Amino acid sequence: MNKTMKLAAALALAAIAGIFLWNTMCACAAQEIRIIRESEQKVGPVAPDNFTGAATSRGYFPAKEIGVSTGEVTFPAGARTAWHSHPRGQMLIVTSGRGLVRQWGEAPIEMNEGDAVWIPANVKHWHGAAPDSAMSHIAMAPLDGEGRSSTWME
Ligand code: MN
Repeated sequence: MNKTMKLAAALALAAIAGIFLWNTMCACAAQEIRIIRESEQKVGPVAPDNFTGAATSRGYFPAKEIGVSTGEVTFPAGARTAWHSHPRGQMLIVTSGRGLVRQWGEAPIEMNEGDAVWIPANVKHWHGAAPDSAMSHIAMAPLDGEGRSSTWME
């Protein structure tokens, strides 16, 4: 091996070692499964402008880190969101109780524990508890290119 070949071999070895070390030692969050334990999740009141009644929310991962707004909202009987829409749609999964979801111009639809609901992009709607029952749902809405998951209305 001449000097140039030795240098090339050394550089190739260093590059392979570097990639190996990066993959095994990098603490980049994006490369690792993350768990936020139930006890570490933040629970608190929702933004009062966007809800009627004293609803509370449980936050999961920061939306901008995972590209999806996620959380569980608990509505006391009769409480609901204001009219709103989602630029990339929203899925709801009812985790307890009985609630209503309503599309603009349509009658409210009852939803019960275990039901999954898909609200397509830009469909004006609200969701919340039934008049006589509390309701909790998990909500997931992808962010659009500007980092928004909801457009709030009246
Ligand atoms: Mn919604």
